[in-house]
Amino acid sequence: FETYVKGRKQQAIPTDEVCENCASPMVIKLGRFGQFLACSNYPECKTTREVAKPGAPDGASAGADGGGESVEETCELCSKPMAMKRGRFGPFLGCTGYPECKNIRRVSKKTGAVAPAPVPIEGETCPVDGAGLVRRHGPYGEFVSCANYPACKYIKRETTGVMCTRAGCRGEIVVKKSKRGKYFYGCSEYPKCDAVFWDKPVAEPCPKCNSPFVLEKTTKKGTTRSCAREECDYKEEVHPTGAPTMAPMGGRDAARDAL
Ligand SMILES: [Zn+2]
Ligand SMILES: [Zn+2]
Ligand SMILES: [Zn+2]
Ligand SMILES: [Zn+2]
Ligand SMILES: [Zn+2]
Repeated sequence: FETYVKGRKQQAIPTDEVCENCASPMVIKLGRFGQFLACSNYPECKTTREVAKPGAPDGASAGADGGGESVEETCELCSKPMAMKRGRFGPFLGCTGYPECKNIRRVSKKTGAVAPAPVPIEGETCPVDGAGLVRRHGPYGEFVSCANYPACKYIKRETTGVMCTRAGCRGEIVVKKSKRGKYFYGCSEYPKCDAVFWDKPVAEPCPKCNSPFVLEKTTKKGTTRSCAREECDYKEEVHPTGAPTMAPMGGRDAARDAL
């Protein structure tokens, strides 16, 4: 029997590497940029990998760790070593304890730098599964999430401690950042609820209408508080704490001290 596929000029050299996506053997093919490893299950499976660099001591059989290059990072969740893997969105570090442990860490496509390990936050737990919370470095800045991310999707947001007052909404007013980098305050139930404030909500009832919170605005001139309800005209200048508004009666006090 003919075992070759006729018309396929490309030569495929079998290897003992295994495809990390479909577990088929990988073969060495010759491409425009030189040799590369490809899944023998092509075109159903399009996995490709770089061929191990020549010159390196070929311990291929020792590296049978699930198809990842070993790196010097350990998983902060289960203490197993992390391995460099290639996903649809580029390289990443994955825990070798996968699938029991789904911990991953981002790798910068440009520099190849591994994102710093998440920093555990003491005394805070995930309200979903009770695991610890960690501070992570994401592509859009730091954020706090469950240590079990991505298995648990809980992400903690900076909250103002003010509950949304829209009827039927059980959200909380959280600190948000606009695309232009400006901070504002919006409902955690967004997009279900679109309550939004540009001034900081403070969990103190309005002295005029007893609405559960007031808005605080700080400018160079000072801090003013106003009611979030349009119907209410409460507006007041607030003075920095520690400087109570007192009539100038220092004279009498001074006189008493002198006695
Ligand atoms: Zn494959
Ligand atoms: Zn792990
Ligand atoms: Zn969680
Ligand atoms: Zn709301
Ligand atoms: Zn009010």
